[in-house]
Amino acid sequence: MCGIVGYTGPRQAYPIILKGLKRLEYRGYDSTGIALLNSGLKIFKKKGKVTDLESTLLGQELHGNIGIGHTRWATHGEPNDVNAHPHRSASGKLAMIHNGIIENFLQLKKDLEKNGYSFKSETDTEVLLNFIEEIRIKNKCNLEEAVRVALNRVVGAYVILLIDEDDPETIIAARKGSPLVIGIGKNEHFLGSDASPMLEYTREVVYVNDYELVIVKPNELILKNLENETITPFVQKLDIELAAIEKNGYDYFMLKEIHEQPKTIYDCLRGRLDAENGTITMAGVELNIEQLKNAPRLIIVACGTSWHAGLIAEYIFEELCRIPVEVEYASEFRYRNPVINRGDVIIAISQSGETADTLVAIEKAKEKGAFIFGVVNVVGSSIARASHAGAYTHAGPEIGVASTKAFTAQLAVLTMVALKIAKEKNTISDERFHQLLQELNEIPAKVSKILEYTEKIEALAKNLKNAQNFLYLGRGYNFPVALEGALKLKEISYIHAEGYPAAEMKHGPIALVDNSLPVVFVATKDENIEKVMSNMHEIKARKGKVISIITENDNLTASICDEFLSVPPSDEIVAPMLSVVPLQLLAYYIGIEKGCDVDKPRNLAKSVTVE
Ligand code: GLU
Repeated sequence: MCGIVGYTGPRQAYPIILKGLKRLEYRGYDSTGIALLNSGLKIFKKKGKVTDLESTLLGQELHGNIGIGHTRWATHGEPNDVNAHPHRSASGKLAMIHNGIIENFLQLKKDLEKNGYSFKSETDTEVLLNFIEEIRIKNKCNLEEAVRVALNRVVGAYVILLIDEDDPETIIAARKGSPLVIGIGKNEHFLGSDASPMLEYTREVVYVNDYELVIVKPNELILKNLENETITPFVQKLDIELAAIEKNGYDYFMLKEIHEQPKTIYDCLRGRLDAENGTITMAGVELNIEQLKNAPRLIIVACGTSWHAGLIAEYIFEELCRIPVEVEYASEFRYRNPVINRGDVIIAISQSGETADTLVAIEKAKEKGAFIFGVVNVVGSSIARASHAGAYTHAGPEIGVASTKAFTAQLAVLTMVALKIAKEKNTISDERFHQLLQELNEIPAKVSKILEYTEKIEALAKNLKNAQNFLYLGRGYNFPVALEGALKLKEISYIHAEGYPAAEMKHGPIALVDNSLPVVFVATKDENIEKVMSNMHEIKARKGKVISIITENDNLTASICDEFLSVPPSDEIVAPMLSVVPLQLLAYYIGIEKGCDVDKPRNLAKSVTVE
């Protein structure tokens, strides 16, 4: 949450920061702000999206070779111009942007107020900034030292970027719990929440670790820990291309990412799955196979859409590997005193690899001796680094706030991991193993087929856009898909939607059914289909409208539905990678019909780096 950008070097900072903020806007869009140093410190900030700030700055003098910029996802104080970052310190000399939460800000604020400080905004950020300034004045030390002293007394999570009117070449940055990347150019440095702001300028980056402080000048990069010891920066080569973070002709990133799924699932399988020779190659699993196959229990921790992937994985692992599985919301798991026994394996699923709740959950489980296996999209992210082993999903940058391609890639990875463990454990027959490899191999082509017929979904969206509520139902592997379908609709179109196990509907939600309620069944053909058909009849008998995702040519199920969308036949274990696609598109087109900004749904942000 919250995007941060910084630049120091020979170029004009403003256009670099502005473009960088547009790329990072998926992380927050409550307000935008930029600070520039050019014979004095200038701060420009405004409630709303990057373009709102940009249009107010047209024609203004925006020179400066050093600057910092921020897109906010508000935690403390409503989204408005005053609470927007950058904040200016009481002396007027310092400007700071911040991603995260300073948990002890109230106490710090009280102490500062006693010493005569007053605050313009309601943010925790302004408190930290003035705390740093007070230390600098009291201790008569330089800014770097003041930041170090302050951060040693701060509780919470942060990435901060600070500039000082009296030192017009230097940016001081620090991180704990939120991501920070530094791009190294020729006599210039870039800073960002991810590498997207620096892609066209450099391929050399340093991923800053927690508790590290950075001092950046155009031709100097110094990395230190909070004990003031110098650290040698680990320079890595970027492997993301510019095209991967652009819309490539699509109206929205979400639509582009839905349509990328044949390729992203293929990329995820490529080099791992060899259906012809009946093998799966995954170093993260192979090197730790004893640990994984002997696990008395798997605990999957995740949030949001990744949690839904975890629920599907629960069914897959139990079915194929015969290992008991629990699926936990990371935010709940971390605050309980969970029972973790020797040998238990935690599977942490996160698109960004920065999800704060998941990160803390695995740290906690690690303390109790668990083995952590990460399933993460962003290479080198915090969760990837905190895991003992893992497998990347290789879905490429996901920018639409509502997750789509990351979900199907997570399912592909988790299915391969389960198949590999099952093979080692001998809990799967050779025949079934080969059959499922073949099924997986066919998924990209089947997703392409679904994507050829979007007109029917667009037409359906037009008919459904005025509904106030939706119910999504499914059984077995299709139940988490129903949850995911409901979540997508809520996120994108702001229509209230609930996902439920189809049979459980009788125990409550059926009371909601009347002729105004669309009920979306995820009803691909499996051993439960007849039971699901009975549930459809129960809805129809109460005048509910039945819309279903069914298997191609399943005329019997189709005959009960008011509307249906078909997906190619497949084994039930891989079916969620298909049945979710029409649901993603349905949510997308309903959102578009309602005039919503589907890439930046209100109140949400991607990569939830606050608790
Ligand atoms: N806590 C800060 C605020 O509310 C920063 C939030 C963010 O990460 O954008 O302004």
